[in-house]
Amino acid sequence: MDGSKRKSENSGSGHHQRKTHKTSQQVDFPCDFDGCRSSFRCQFNLMRHKSSIHGSKRPCPLEGCNYASGRPDKMKEHIKRMHSFVSE
Ligand SMILES: [Zn+2]
Ligand SMILES: [Zn+2]
Repeated sequence: MDGSKRKSENSGSGHHQRKTHKTSQQVDFPCDFDGCRSSFRCQFNLMRHKSSIHGSKRPCPLEGCNYASGRPDKMKEHIKRMHSFVSE
């Protein structure tokens, strides 16, 4: 066994990739909705987010269930999980 095989390691230098560091990231309008961590730079975006994501919150149609979601896909998933049937 002689180490005739040599790996010529050419560690590629000259590959400069600077990551743009943004230290001063302004977050002026955080969503105050419970459990939501979205934040926006202007109030308009925040309001649009609220109305589209949290706005039309619908309660679970199942009696005695306190679950509510503004997203129909989440609601469907909830019903499937918690009530184990889908009425479609
Ligand atoms: Zn939100
Ligand atoms: Zn439910």
